[in-house]
Amino acid sequence: MNAIRARLDTVNRRIRDAAARCGRPAGAVQLLAVSKTRPPEDIRAALAAGQLRFGESYLQEALEKIRALRASQAQWHFIGRIQGNKTRAIAEHFDWVHSLCSIRHAQRLNDQRPDELPPLNLCLQINLSGEDTKAGIAPEEAFELVARLRELPRLNLCGLMTLPAPAETLEQQRLPFRRLRELRDRLATPALPLATLSMGMSGDLEAAIAEGATIVRIGTAIFGPRTKVSSR
Ligand SMILES: *Cc1c(COP(=O)(O)O)cnc(C)c1O
Repeated sequence: MNAIRARLDTVNRRIRDAAARCGRPAGAVQLLAVSKTRPPEDIRAALAAGQLRFGESYLQEALEKIRALRASQAQWHFIGRIQGNKTRAIAEHFDWVHSLCSIRHAQRLNDQRPDELPPLNLCLQINLSGEDTKAGIAPEEAFELVARLRELPRLNLCGLMTLPAPAETLEQQRLPFRRLRELRDRLATPALPLATLSMGMSGDLEAAIAEGATIVRIGTAIFGPRTKVSSR
């Protein structure tokens, strides 16, 4: 059994165990394999092991892999920083965007989403720590953005995403995830349930699942440590 298949098994078991501990069905949590900086061969190995969802952060690199794997069943999620002049390629080649932070980018993605594709699935990225260096909008800004997004028919707002600073203990890890869930509960309406919570990475997926994560974004625990720093 190759290393990627074995690590995928381990991650899927961690997800199942974490869900079981808090009484959630295993199918309630989807695994997004974060394949940024990894070569197409690694993605092929994961595909062969049954993994279909892949997360990419760097657009140029992602487009090359999407092209190389065109014939596969892979589903592509953009999780990196969005640059305004790069929205068209995102709108044309991805199934999901987890990192939406501005109405201007939303408008462009909406206008550029090809007619033959379904609406682009989206999460709003929320910055819960208030650090200027971190991407994401402040929680109080989310209310207006959600209202504006409802007017854009080629976008499908599914929920919220966050990327907290690493924390040591399970209790410390759970805090930002709990705040994201509570913000979602305040934003949600019957017509717009915002069911998706994209939160949790290799080091804190158990904490995220305990707080209601529906998508965990896992890189290192599947593909091993990242050595190469990618160019954009
Ligand atoms: C790289 C990255 C991940 C995966 O992190 P790991 O610690 O390798 O699991 C998750 N989410 C985002 C937004 C990332 O950029």
